[in-house]
Amino acid sequence: MGDKENNYVKIPKDHPRITSLLYRHKIIEGMKNLVVAEAGLIAHGRGECFDYILGEKTNDFAIHAINAAVAQLLLAQHPVISVNGNVAALCPEDLVILSNTVNAPLEINIFYRKKGRVNAIKKLLEEAGGKNILGTDESIMVEIEELSSNRRNVDPKGIKISDVVFIPLEDGDRTEALKKLGKTVISVDLNPLSRTAIWADITIVDNIIRTLPIMTKIALKYKNYAKEQLKKIVDEFNNKKNIQNVLDFVIKYINLQKEKAFSILYK
Ligand code: ATP
Ligand code: MG
Repeated sequence: MGDKENNYVKIPKDHPRITSLLYRHKIIEGMKNLVVAEAGLIAHGRGECFDYILGEKTNDFAIHAINAAVAQLLLAQHPVISVNGNVAALCPEDLVILSNTVNAPLEINIFYRKKGRVNAIKKLLEEAGGKNILGTDESIMVEIEELSSNRRNVDPKGIKISDVVFIPLEDGDRTEALKKLGKTVISVDLNPLSRTAIWADITIVDNIIRTLPIMTKIALKYKNYAKEQLKKIVDEFNNKKNIQNVLDFVIKYINLQKEKAFSILYK
């Protein structure tokens, strides 16, 4: 690493945006290791922007959606966790822990299929303790016709046979295709207005780095619940109301920030 790069990682511990800067660095490192595509940097920036207007914290509406998501994953016959470059770069360990806790395999699914990328992501997940990572053997992949892009290939042991798919940071086209295939879709997306957020059955509007550890914590608790109890949690969740709550929160939060900003400006 050159001096300039070294300086970049030396973020003062009391920096107000330290968490955001550290994860930004992980994304940049991921890009250097082939894990993250160039476009992934832009997607990350879009996420950061939305995180800002959510107060950079996990709000009540997200906890509510997480509860339903975990119950849904535990009820599934064949749950799968779809992994792209950004998610792998940001939180490989948490992905593996959640995968083991809810018994859902990790399937690598990327849009930009640059040579070596799948292997780079696989390596990262394996270093984090992941085993039997799906989506890595091109020769056995099958096509889902609903999708025309290069992400139409899915693993016959994973998404192909899944009933519930967990898709953090997914593109809208693919979410729509999964829905058309009859899958129950759980998303994590900081943008409550993205097509993925709108199409998903359960939309967790939160930063993936905060969501995953909370999901695991709740999964450990819910694993002792009876099926009926889990079903009740899923049935009582209303995603339309969820999105509505997020948007109401954002409006309130921005108004509050506006007052704060103006109180400084007009001091
Ligand atoms: P869509 O295709 O669903 O309409 P989009 O085209 O606006 O969405 P994409 O780049 O396809 O966006 O999807 C990436 C999504 O991931 C964005 O909505 C972005 O806000 C979100 N995102 C980025 N980083 C994070 C993160 N750390 N945690 C949660 N969501 C994130
Ligand atoms: Mg998109």
